[in-house]
Amino acid sequence: MVNRRAQDIRRLNRFEMLRRFYAADTAKTRQDLASETGLSFATVSNLTAELLDAGVLVEAGHAGSSGGRPRALLNLNAQRGALVGVDVGETSVRTELFDLSLRELAVHEESLARGEVTPEQVVELIETGVQAVLDTADLPRAHVLGAGVSIPGLVERERGVSAYSPYWAWRDVPMRDLIAERLAMPVHLDNPLKASTLAELWFGAGRDADPLVVVTLRSGVGAGFAFGGTLFRGLTDSAGEWGHTCLVLGGRPCRCGRLGCVEAYVGVNGIVETLRYLAPDDPLLALTRQEDRLLSELAARAATGDAVATGVIRETAGYLAAALGSLVNLLNPEVLVLGNQIADHLGEHLLRDTRAALADHTLAQPLSAVSLRLSSLPHDAVSRGAAAFAFEGFLDDRDVFGPVSRARSARARAKAEAIAED
Ligand SMILES: [Zn+2]
Repeated sequence: MVNRRAQDIRRLNRFEMLRRFYAADTAKTRQDLASETGLSFATVSNLTAELLDAGVLVEAGHAGSSGGRPRALLNLNAQRGALVGVDVGETSVRTELFDLSLRELAVHEESLARGEVTPEQVVELIETGVQAVLDTADLPRAHVLGAGVSIPGLVERERGVSAYSPYWAWRDVPMRDLIAERLAMPVHLDNPLKASTLAELWFGAGRDADPLVVVTLRSGVGAGFAFGGTLFRGLTDSAGEWGHTCLVLGGRPCRCGRLGCVEAYVGVNGIVETLRYLAPDDPLLALTRQEDRLLSELAARAATGDAVATGVIRETAGYLAAALGSLVNLLNPEVLVLGNQIADHLGEHLLRDTRAALADHTLAQPLSAVSLRLSSLPHDAVSRGAAAFAFEGFLDDRDVFGPVSRARSARARAKAEAIAED
């Protein structure tokens, strides 16, 4: 028990330190890392020795110092290996390849047919995508340290199982093993809420925010939470299914089979329903099978002051604010990020209307404390977050960071401490 806890703390500290490199995108000295993380210098030199030993960090010259010895600069070793991030959405499978500094090397997208989709079809498209990005980047498969795959719906991460996907009626599908068998690399399975939240926490609008709430707005809707810089998962990994909480008693039917869910009002289908209600003959209703085009045309019309389009966004923002009000009252977050497809298209307009409506649904004190923001990530929060899960998985690998590696790095640690005591 004691060992387990020491190991968990070590793991958290390692992520806390590595996050600083992504946040700033510059080389850092051990002294910088100690002061930024609040960790002791001994802990920092211990962790950096281990990461240098594993090739995750590299020495990157020296920082000038007045008087004493120059201090070694450290940075991420982008060439140490590549990471794959896959976003299995309701309408497409997006596969991205990143280097270790999470710079995008290649991307490949495959469309998913509407209606019933089998696990085998998804595995096939992932395999195609991974081969395509490796070909584009001209890298061998052996260079990949791992793949993170996001599957919509409920995912039990430890078991690597898609417990329930409302879109395709999947139940208890062992997706991690099915994918790993085909890719021949370590695979880490999670869902879009967790992946988006991790991406915002590591690289996006949620850096250093605590508590952080990340709201995912696309066909599916949900919220991710991070407390103390760590994702909150709940007992069985299902925390965040806010999209299927009731917003309107006896309201619109939802895909989950219940009535009045948040998703039925603020998801893509919800926006279409609001449009149908406000303007039953609107030509945009012909585009319900082309979500991106529908949303971008809605945004373009709203920008010209079109009454129907501005009305749809205002209504949607009203529903969204009512649903977000509960999250703000319950969790008292520092930052609330709106992200993914709908936020990407409707952007500032949706943000402005939502912010204006939020006061009607939130207590004044938590409202004044929260910062409501749009995601600052490019259009790939989910695949980027999935790649970050693969990186976490690599860092958790006991062959890379086990007791043997710790013994190996003891010499390096002693050397670093000697340099610091100048
Ligand atoms: Zn529902």
